[in-house]
Amino acid sequence: MKFHVLTLFPQMIMDALNTSITGRAIDKGILSVNAVDIRDYTHDKHLKVDDYPYGGGAGMVMQPGPVVECYENIVTKGTKPRVVYMTPQGETFSQAKAKELAQEEELVILCGHYEGIDERALEEIVTDYISIGDYVLTGGELAAMVVIDSVSRLVPGVLNNDVSAETESFSDGLLEYPQYTRPVEFRGKKVPEVLLSGHHAKIDEWRHEKSLERTKRFRPDLYEAYLKDHPEERKN
Ligand code: SAM
Repeated sequence: MKFHVLTLFPQMIMDALNTSITGRAIDKGILSVNAVDIRDYTHDKHLKVDDYPYGGGAGMVMQPGPVVECYENIVTKGTKPRVVYMTPQGETFSQAKAKELAQEEELVILCGHYEGIDERALEEIVTDYISIGDYVLTGGELAAMVVIDSVSRLVPGVLNNDVSAETESFSDGLLEYPQYTRPVEFRGKKVPEVLLSGHHAKIDEWRHEKSLERTKRFRPDLYEAYLKDHPEERKN
């Protein structure tokens, strides 16, 4: 899968994604991340890409020209990849949205800065508006990395063990069960006996129970939604 990130801080994106699991997938050619500097597309002799907002108010606004020209330069003629604008005003990002985006072969992610981007550039190129939560960041780069990281791990071959993405939190509407590894006893706390039993059906049953318990505790909204689809699992 190919990501293009339109940003004023391409180094920030490359430094983060060239490490660990995404870094290995880039090395293997399963992923490619092309972070492009919007500033390269300004015609201003001082390389300015922002200006004061019409109508007054605080801060600066990114001008439409460099953003749209940057987009036009990276996109292959005749193709129309989806363009995601990272914005606190967008749809809240979710595992379902990550799965949807992972079906794309190519994705463009646009990062704003300052007070955001001139509306006309957004109207011209953006197809999806995504927020990573109800808070305001200084720029879209951290948000873009969140999206790229979570979408990438759903691309076949990126995780060593593809099964792990299928059993993780949110994949079946529940949070994942608790995990344990060696040692069998840590500061007086033992690994639950059933996990040492080798009895796979019992282990699955225990994990499902724990998933239900912790979803009810930490995310009652998800728990209620799950029970709507599985009413037989409701216990008092
Ligand atoms: N003035 C904008 C508003 O009130 O909606 C906020 C601009 S914010 C300071 C600068 C940039 O950070 C935005 O253009 C966007 O790209 C990014 N950003 C900020 N918060 C975000 C969030 N919660 N999710 C995704 N992107 C965000």
